[in-house]
Amino acid sequence: MEVSKENFPEWYNEVIEEAGLVDKRYPVKGMHVWLPYGWQLMRNIDEYFRYIFTKYNHQEVYFPLLVPETEFKKEGEHIKGFENEVYWVTHGGTTPLDVKLVLRPTSETAMYPIFSLWIRTHADLPLKIFQIVNIFRYETKQTRAFIRMREVHFFESHTAHATAEEAEEQIRENIEIWKKIAKKLALPYILVRKTEWDKFPGAHYSIGAETIMPSGRTLQVATIHQYLQNFSRAYNIEYLKEDGTHDYVHQTTFGMSERLVGAIVGIHGDDRGIILPPEIAPIQVVIVPIITKDKEKILREAKKIKEELQEHFRVHLDDRDNYTPGYKFYDWELRGVPLRLEIGPRDMENEQVILVRRDTFEKIAVKRSEYISKIEVLLKEIQENLLHKAEEEMREKIKEFDDLEDVKNHKGIAVVGWCGSYECGEKIEKLTEKKIIGIPMEKRKGRCIICGKETDMMAYVAKPY
Ligand SMILES: [Zn+2]
Repeated sequence: MEVSKENFPEWYNEVIEEAGLVDKRYPVKGMHVWLPYGWQLMRNIDEYFRYIFTKYNHQEVYFPLLVPETEFKKEGEHIKGFENEVYWVTHGGTTPLDVKLVLRPTSETAMYPIFSLWIRTHADLPLKIFQIVNIFRYETKQTRAFIRMREVHFFESHTAHATAEEAEEQIRENIEIWKKIAKKLALPYILVRKTEWDKFPGAHYSIGAETIMPSGRTLQVATIHQYLQNFSRAYNIEYLKEDGTHDYVHQTTFGMSERLVGAIVGIHGDDRGIILPPEIAPIQVVIVPIITKDKEKILREAKKIKEELQEHFRVHLDDRDNYTPGYKFYDWELRGVPLRLEIGPRDMENEQVILVRRDTFEKIAVKRSEYISKIEVLLKEIQENLLHKAEEEMREKIKEFDDLEDVKNHKGIAVVGWCGSYECGEKIEKLTEKKIIGIPMEKRKGRCIICGKETDMMAYVAKPY
């Protein structure tokens, strides 16, 4: 890496390509090519989504990419929120279409007309599904790999319930699932409730998981929405109750995207490159043979080690002929492989290997007789260390202020008292040139930083991506 992480925006732009995650040269703005290593990382995250949501009784589906204009326009708030950022398909060949089609910006309007056919009685509830697809949004702001894209790799779960209480219970379950995902990805976060003017278009309320990037700007990495009956009324998703009457279902959604990769890259990297949490790293252990003599013998041993380890871990043997070990170290550090295993002539004599941690660069000599259990322990330690360190860094960036100038200059999340009125909220945003990214989930006493009124609400103020 030529750029230091101190210069974060430049470092980020450079490292995602140098580490082999994406190729940004695709000739459409806001769309990039996933390279094999980056795609494997994304797929490992997707596999965990599949595992955890299936465990919580969701089923995977796949809905079409195109949504008819007639369905897209059924929920008023929703269409208002998205109409400026959808791509339209207007022609089939040279023939104008009778009904124009939208490339899904999210899938409510694709799914809910079909939900109204699937759901007839209380016996069909709850309905819990998810899909992992690409979505399209015509972003007009500056695009940034993983963070603000026009084609986005997207996860969305959608649920329908008989009662509002059951939908609330689902929100709690979604938060529980999110906590597990964040741990798996070693991501620190805070949960916030979105303001009325910032919630998802059509939602009753929205909850965001926010993390802080090294630049001090916040990144929303997951959103959980309570719709209640806002969409079911528009899409006529009714069910027959046990008492013979009808009611509309209550709905929730949960969305995440490739932003998670952006967060992992930004939060865990260093001057040498990215650092991947072992739980989702495409390669957990890279074997680098140190060949000073006995080339054939060392390579044979390295292959044997690979065979032994791949029963337990995701392993790669770097047996490239025309590169020095030093170059290989540099290369795998750049790509963030959590553990490097070195095997050379002296290690063979001593029946040992050398393990090097990517997070601390600590070098550990381990006997071959116990190296599998040692690697297991080290990978766990690296995972925990990454999360712990990131959590600490994030905590330091969240500070309480009662002076607007301090809020404006703070790099991170500023916590201020807010009476909750739109007028004061607008003033906070204008005077600090930042945004209220949400309010804490718990109440707390204080005074509004604008009008001085006593309040039990605080606001998180930051500059979001
Ligand atoms: Zn106020």
